Amino acid sequence: MTTELEVGLYIFMLAGFLGYHIITRVPPLLHTPLMSATNAIAAISLVGSLVVAGSDYSAVPNGWVCTLLGFAAVTSSATNAVGGFLITDRMLRMFKTAEEREKGGRRPLEQQMLVGAVVFVALVVVLIYAAKPAGMGVGEFVREHVAAQALRYGYILSAAMFVLGLKGLSSPKYARAGMFLAALGMVVAVVGTLFHHEIVHYKWIAIGFAIGAVVGGTMGLRIPMTAVPQRTALSHSLGALAACLVGVSEYFRYQGALNRVTLTALDFEVIVGGLTFTGSLMAAAKLQELLPGRPITYKGQNVFNLSLLSVIAGSAVYLVWAQAATPFFYVMVALSLVFGLLLVIPIGAADMPVVIALLNSYGGLADAAMGFVLMNKIQIITGSLDGTSGFLLSLLMCRAMNRSAANVLFGAFGKVSEEEVTAAAEAKGSVRSITADETAVLLETASSMIVVPGYGMAVAQAQHAVAELGETLKERGVDVKYAIHPVAGRMPGHMNVLLAEADVPYEQLVEMEVINPYFPEADVVLVVGANDVTNPAAKNNKSSPLYGMPILDVERAKSIIVLKRSMRPGFAGVDNDLYYNEKCMMLFGDAKDSITKLISEMKSLL
Ligand code: NAP
Repeated sequence: MTTELEVGLYIFMLAGFLGYHIITRVPPLLHTPLMSATNAIAAISLVGSLVVAGSDYSAVPNGWVCTLLGFAAVTSSATNAVGGFLITDRMLRMFKTAEEREKGGRRPLEQQMLVGAVVFVALVVVLIYAAKPAGMGVGEFVREHVAAQALRYGYILSAAMFVLGLKGLSSPKYARAGMFLAALGMVVAVVGTLFHHEIVHYKWIAIGFAIGAVVGGTMGLRIPMTAVPQRTALSHSLGALAACLVGVSEYFRYQGALNRVTLTALDFEVIVGGLTFTGSLMAAAKLQELLPGRPITYKGQNVFNLSLLSVIAGSAVYLVWAQAATPFFYVMVALSLVFGLLLVIPIGAADMPVVIALLNSYGGLADAAMGFVLMNKIQIITGSLDGTSGFLLSLLMCRAMNRSAANVLFGAFGKVSEEEVTAAAEAKGSVRSITADETAVLLETASSMIVVPGYGMAVAQAQHAVAELGETLKERGVDVKYAIHPVAGRMPGHMNVLLAEADVPYEQLVEMEVINPYFPEADVVLVVGANDVTNPAAKNNKSSPLYGMPILDVERAKSIIVLKRSMRPGFAGVDNDLYYNEKCMMLFGDAKDSITKLISEMKSLL
């Protein structure tokens, strides 16, 4: 006989393989939307939270604690679900071809979602009334005959919708429709869960959902695209918090008297949920510059962290063995929260995207563990999909940076002193600078230009100015292309999202492998706030920390203009050999200001 646990494990593994298969097909262009899409789907923790918030705890001493924890979990999961789907749609709406831009925009997802949800709810109501025997009350009919079926089939339907939704991300053409389907899948799962036999009151569910919808909706609609990395981190923290709270509530409810399998899953859920919650909060604070972005290290840090992890793991084993209510459980949860903070403190802000992707993966695993605790298969499926997606993205980022995950997590990368950088620069000689009016003259004579955007474009919020310059040159018959390095900026696909926001058709955004052969043909390469991704040391200096990282072959172009504010290094903290190349000229200043001046100089040359 196959037990429910075995079925759960089979589902977990198969969903992981399916996730791997689907996610490896998502193009780098859509990696940022993929992160927020899996984030939104992972908000399926909402279904478990609903059950916890709406259950009857009258037989549990101080049962209000469980309701309170469930309410907080509903609020955070709803924030995640609403915010996640809205911001994913905002991003995907920006990815258009030149032809689609000319035809005009499409209807926003908010409207489509509303129509879809209203149609779905209306259909459910009509079906219930049609099937109900005459003389029987609606409530009784739903409780006795509909609830269990609605839940079972609703979850199967929504699992299929989530998988198809992620599959849609394999092309910008179908990505929005896919995410619409996934959002509908979430509605189906949530509506189905409202029929759960354990849910007996809806007050805290309704209040938590309303708060989450307002907060998530505001975040999803208002947050600027340049703040997407920190929003994603914040969103992971909310998802993980929900998992942790549900785990604590279940432990409190049953006073630890659960079977050993459930206790193992529950320990995993609260530990991984807890450390992901605080770790993601720390990552968001570093990215938002609320905390210093540099790595904070001290002697014996890794040993201390490993010892703490061993204490947490030991406590988990003890709790499974004890199978009883003990305050030790809460100490373990508190230590996990502390561990999350300590894990992220030694990692520099620039490495946060890899950390965020890894935390995304942990969040997914915490969700899946919640699925095992509540024996909820939809949570096992989505947790597994989310876990695979985050893990794959972090591996892809590490590969593109030519670094190991261990180096990212424990290497305190980016801790190079100012003196080292100045000494390296002095050894290489001088650089040539150029003014905006001289650059305008150079561009006047060019027939092809490649723009290389980097993190500085995001900092300067120069994407609209860059797009305007590109359009101006195109109108003058110049062939303009945008070279996209897989880890330019601070998120996978970061540059694609910013340029799509500035209305650059996505067919003009060319990936590194495809554009590299074209650099020798380009008359001018305009490097806008990119640094490491253009550094030739990655190819020819074995002692450079960048050595081995694939880069854009900018130095092979006929002339190179670099827009940055100073000679300060980028993320890797090393000087860029490109700047000493005789074909290279530096246009110093804020990228947005420089391009704005450049455009007006070009107009005055007419
Ligand atoms: P970068 O090497 O970090 O360089 C960015 C440059 O932008 C800096 O040198 C800076 O110089 C300039 N800048 C900053 N603000 C500016 C402004 N307002 N106007 C003009 N320039 C400005 O960036 P990158 O070339 O995009 O490379 C990305 C780096 O991040 C890589 O090393 C990559 O491995 C790492 N990374 C990326 C990801 C990802 O997923 N994308 C993940 C983890 C790590 P000034 O200060 O002189 O202006």
